[in-house]
Amino acid sequence: MKILFSARDALWPEYKPALEAEFARLNLSVELTRDTSDPGSIDYIIYAPARDDDDLSVYKNVRLIQSLWAGPDKLLKNPTLTQPLARMVEPGMTQTMTEFVLGQVLYHHLHTQDFVTMPKDDWRWDWGPPLANTRTVGFLGAGALGTACAAVVHQVGFITIGWSRGPKPDAPMQVFHGAEGLKSVLEQSDILVLLLPNTTATENVLNAETLALAKPGVAIVNAGRGEAIDDAALLAALDSGQVRSATLDVFRQEPLPANDPYRSHPRVLVTPHVAAETQAATACVFAAENIARDARGETPLHLVDRSLNY
Ligand code: NAP
Repeated sequence: MKILFSARDALWPEYKPALEAEFARLNLSVELTRDTSDPGSIDYIIYAPARDDDDLSVYKNVRLIQSLWAGPDKLLKNPTLTQPLARMVEPGMTQTMTEFVLGQVLYHHLHTQDFVTMPKDDWRWDWGPPLANTRTVGFLGAGALGTACAAVVHQVGFITIGWSRGPKPDAPMQVFHGAEGLKSVLEQSDILVLLLPNTTATENVLNAETLALAKPGVAIVNAGRGEAIDDAALLAALDSGQVRSATLDVFRQEPLPANDPYRSHPRVLVTPHVAAETQAATACVFAAENIARDARGETPLHLVDRSLNY
C-alpha cells in the first residue's frame, strides 16, 4: 500500500517516523512517500495542503484522503477533490481546544478584560465574580470539539447546553437544534462558545437578529470559523453593550488586517487562530488507524459529508 504524505516540508521529519511506527504497530506494510511523480500508484493521501491549487484529480486510485485538519472547508474549495475525505479528530487537538475554551470561558466569566484595560490608578470593589454554577455556557456546535469542551467546562461547575444540526438525545448535556433551539440557547447563555464548521447553513448564525435574542451582556468565544459571525452586527452589539466581551480566534480574512476594528476594540481579545493545533503524535495514531479501517473494508471515521460541507 502506497501512502503519499502531502503537507509542508517542515512536517515530514516529525510525521515520517511517527507514521511508520503506527503502521508497524498495526502490522500494515506501507510505503510512505513524498514523491508525486507516479500519482496512479498512490492508494491513500495524508493531507494538509501546502498550497491551494493542488490537482488531486490525478490521484485516480486514491481510496481516502485523510486530512490533518479538523475543519474541511478550505479543502472542499478545491474542485479537483472528489475522493472520500476524512477530517482529523484526535485527542491532542481536542485537549488543546479544551484548554483554550476553558481559559477563555473563565476569562470572560471573571471579567478579566476589564482589569486588563483598567486605568492604572483605578481600584474598584463594585463587582465580584458570581459562582460558575449560576452561569450557563452555550456551545453552538456540539460535535467532537464542542462536546469535549463542554464536558470540561461543566466539570468546573458551569451549566452547559449545546446546539447542533440534528437532535442529540444521548449527549451528556441538553442539546437543542433548529431555529427554535438556537433561540433557547441564546436566551439562556451567559457565555456562548462557537465551535461550528463553515457551511452555507452556519454562515452568519450570529447576526443582528440572533444577537438581539441573546442575554444582555453575553460574552462570545469564537474558535470555530469566522464566517459564523456577521462582523458588523457583532461590533454594533459590542458597542451597545448587548455583547459584553468577546474572544475571537478565527476570522473571515486571516491574518486579520492590522486596521480591522476588532484589533482595537477594548472588549475584544483577538487571538491568531491558535485555539487548537493538530498534535503529530496523536494525529498519526488516528490517521494510521483510519487508513487501516478502510484497508480492512470498514467505513473510515469522520468522513466529510459533501452534501453538508462538514
Ligand atoms: P464536528 O464534530 O463536525 O462538529 C460540528 C458541530 O456543528 C456538530 O455538532 C454539528 O451538528 C454542528 N453543526 C453543523 N452544521 C450546523 C447547523 N447548520 N446548525 C447547527 N449546528 C450545526 O466538528 P469539530 O471537530 O467539533 O470541529 C468544529 C470546527 O472547529 C471545525 O469545523 C473547524 O472549523 C473548527 N476548528 C477550529 C480550530 C482553531 O484552531 N480555531 C481548530 C480545530 C477546529 P451535528 O452534531 O448535528 O452534526
